[in-house]
Amino acid sequence: MIYLDNAATTFPKPPSVRREVDRCLRDYCGNPGRSAHALSLAAAEAIFDCRREAAELFGLPSPEQIIFTYNTTHALNMAIKGLLRRGDHVLISDMEHNAVYRPIWLLHAFGEITFDIYPTYPASPEADVEAILDGIRQRIRPNTRMLIASHVSNLCSAELPLTEIGALCRERGLLFVVDAAQSAGIADIDCGAMEIDALCAPGHKGLYGPQGSGILALRAGTVMATLLEGGSGVNSLDGAMPDFAPERYEAGTLATPAIAGLCAGIRFVRERGVGQIRAAEQMLYRRLREMLGNTKGVTLYAPEREGSTLLFNLDGIASTQAAAMLDKAGICLRAGFHCAPLGHRTLNTGDDGALRVGFSVFNRTTDLEALVRSVKEILRESHKN
Ligand code: PMP
Repeated sequence: MIYLDNAATTFPKPPSVRREVDRCLRDYCGNPGRSAHALSLAAAEAIFDCRREAAELFGLPSPEQIIFTYNTTHALNMAIKGLLRRGDHVLISDMEHNAVYRPIWLLHAFGEITFDIYPTYPASPEADVEAILDGIRQRIRPNTRMLIASHVSNLCSAELPLTEIGALCRERGLLFVVDAAQSAGIADIDCGAMEIDALCAPGHKGLYGPQGSGILALRAGTVMATLLEGGSGVNSLDGAMPDFAPERYEAGTLATPAIAGLCAGIRFVRERGVGQIRAAEQMLYRRLREMLGNTKGVTLYAPEREGSTLLFNLDGIASTQAAAMLDKAGICLRAGFHCAPLGHRTLNTGDDGALRVGFSVFNRTTDLEALVRSVKEILRESHKN
């Protein structure tokens, strides 16, 4: 089995992550923040360790600004619905995932907000920055309150210049929300330097944590409306949720085993180094681009953007059909529309979506060679018929 669907979720997880989830379930999985006994306190300590690791990774001064969610979508919904008010205007990029597009679309459909889409592609990576900033400036209105940026696309490896966009948001008084689903653990993110108000990240992708873990990193001093209300373990006699992070935003029992595993995942990433991980995945990208690029019948999308995901199609074969054939050959990757209709339109991938390869630190060149062998076989067979 060759797993190349790491943009959906990384697999396998590092041994240290598996060990920590097991240790949590065996040794210390009380309910954090609810009771004062030893197992509850041990769980709370594990949760705090993870907050500290995440805060250090993302350049936040205080671990309390790390809010645990169940995935990126959860974090994005919290930020979007918690920060926007009736009458606001929002800017989203032309590469956004449905995790951004759908909540924005729904608020718009209910007449709560208006939104515009700023272009980010295709310009050459070098020409991008000024063109993207100009596109944003042209769309800012007096009531524009928030800008959302998908840091790295989940289709190709196109990356947005967060530092420059963040500076523009700061200058124009816009809230800056970042979808880091494809970049957390792979690209450097410094919420302070990049002026990010809300960073939404998965635990289960580039941070190598279990599914059920996600992060919302909030700028200090930001107070949002809550998406969920309920038990928080503090101020139990009050009807209102606490007015401080993280308790205000973490209603109900946390996913302690997932968070304990995430802590080990973040440590794994920090020990290897985000830069090293990125360089290793870019090397795989270049190798695969070269092999597929030399294969007749393969179309690559945005091949000049080097990163952790590569998007392609095979001539005359629907992407879902090709993925099913690859699955039979023991190769797991994703096909279709990847929950990103805006990005597919931007990249012009056609009616059948496209095949996506997503790398992790556990992939080797031999995985790519096996993929290319199977791709050639599929193309040969289909052109026989
Ligand atoms: N945004 C992007 C860019 C993504 O790639 C994904 C996952 N495919 C999401 C958001 C949603 O992530 P999650 O599955 O963690 O909710």
